[in-house]
Amino acid sequence: FSTAVAFEEPITPPVQIDYTQLLINGQFVDSTSGKKFPTLDPRTGDVIAHVAEGEAEDVNQAVSAARKAFDEGPWPKMTAYERSRIMLRFADLLEKHSDHIAALETWDNGKPYEQAANEEIPLLIRLFRYYAGRGWADKIHGLTVPADGPYHVQTLHEPIGVAGQIIPWNFPLLMYAWKVGPALACGNTVVLKTAEQTPLSALYVSKLFHEAGLPPGVLNVISGFGPTAGAALASHMDVDKLAFTGSTDTGKIVLGLAAKSNLKPVTLELGGKSPVIVCEDADVDTAVELAHLALFFNQGQCCCAGSRTFVHERVYDEFIEKAKALALKRVVGDPFKKGVEQGPQIDSEQFKKILKYIRSGIEGGATLESGGERFGSKGYYIQPTVFSNVQDNMLIAKDEIFGPVQSILKFKDLDEVIRRANMTRYGLAAGVFTQNIDTANTLTRALKAGTVWINCFDIFDAAIPFGGYKMSGQGREKGIYSLNNYLQVKAVVTPLKSPAW
Ligand code: ADP
Repeated sequence: FSTAVAFEEPITPPVQIDYTQLLINGQFVDSTSGKKFPTLDPRTGDVIAHVAEGEAEDVNQAVSAARKAFDEGPWPKMTAYERSRIMLRFADLLEKHSDHIAALETWDNGKPYEQAANEEIPLLIRLFRYYAGRGWADKIHGLTVPADGPYHVQTLHEPIGVAGQIIPWNFPLLMYAWKVGPALACGNTVVLKTAEQTPLSALYVSKLFHEAGLPPGVLNVISGFGPTAGAALASHMDVDKLAFTGSTDTGKIVLGLAAKSNLKPVTLELGGKSPVIVCEDADVDTAVELAHLALFFNQGQCCCAGSRTFVHERVYDEFIEKAKALALKRVVGDPFKKGVEQGPQIDSEQFKKILKYIRSGIEGGATLESGGERFGSKGYYIQPTVFSNVQDNMLIAKDEIFGPVQSILKFKDLDEVIRRANMTRYGLAAGVFTQNIDTANTLTRALKAGTVWINCFDIFDAAIPFGGYKMSGQGREKGIYSLNNYLQVKAVVTPLKSPAW
């Protein structure tokens, strides 16, 4: 099998690395231990930069800065209007520097520059504006509650305090936005741990946030590893809330650490094995194209990737032919190059894991329609791979592969596909392709997933809640739903006439 573009020497990224230290209390500082770790270029495996490695002591310092900024102000004590103005100024700076930011994201992560610049950075900007003045920061308020008895009852919606946030490498900046945006809009302070594979862009944009007027200590950014920095944050006694995005196995660990320490509430956004269901009456061309996007977007490194494509037997053969043709046409190459749709996988660990799954698909008897091997001889590129004739019990149909591997399964009727689509420990998202409103309604209600996209996929507007059923997570991010994660409700009861007894 061949892919569209031959491998070439990597393009020199059009940016310098400005910030590699930890960001604590508004200052860039070295780690206490002085340790550093390399962050690698997925195109080559070469070192981009050495960044400060935060560990438990650095997390302590960041948490106490965030604690002070929360307890003594100014952040929660500022008017919501002032907070929202800082967030809006930050969004303006993101817009101004978006070329630079997109280049950093591409360099550290490997995603196509055009995807980062044209799709992801605009979402990042939109999200901060959504949660700032034109969105929520100054519109958070409680209720007046009619209660029995001569009492005036009201609820205050207060920030929780110091939020610890742990994010993954697949969308470094979007995950930053989904976490930091609502937490700060609600008046909390934050200690964020970035993923060890992609520490760079969060440092850069956080510097911009401070330029926009963010007071010191409100947002602290720690680069470092999970079992050290991440675990220290999850188990910290002075962190009031934990938000985590990553694998289901690590989600279980951080939930345990939160429970064992101070019972901080936890939101989790975890893995998935999302079904895409193509019904017999679907517009096949649209379904092929969007099922392709659902899986291959971001090199297949999406927690909601449509990684089980169920196709009705009547359109199955046509779908396979077209899905294969599209995969063969997919442009793989240097993510800085114009027109490239697929860059390298994030690192050698993921690269090897994906190739192992591809082998298991072949050995398990699925039909390899396209791809199946690495692309080029350098870096972590993998050919867009399509399997047909996939069976439910195969590993490629059960495990989250997190790579450019589309698995196509055949079905006969709706009841059957509902049962099979739900036959997973995950429940993050689902896609449905049909022109029949009854079919769409039936599937929407029956699928156990936090998002159902009908005749579309991967729509990530800031206002739309996102999160999982079952082992795909707990809680929702984005939209008004995310505010609940970062607010306490205080009931205040006052007698109408004192004394009331
Ligand atoms: P992946 O396998 O995709 O890298 P992980 O769940 O391991 O996903 O990583 C997501 C985030 O969780 C990263 O920031 C990582 O450093 C962090 N992490 C990994 N292990 C732990 C841990 N034991 N405690 C806290 N955070 C962790």
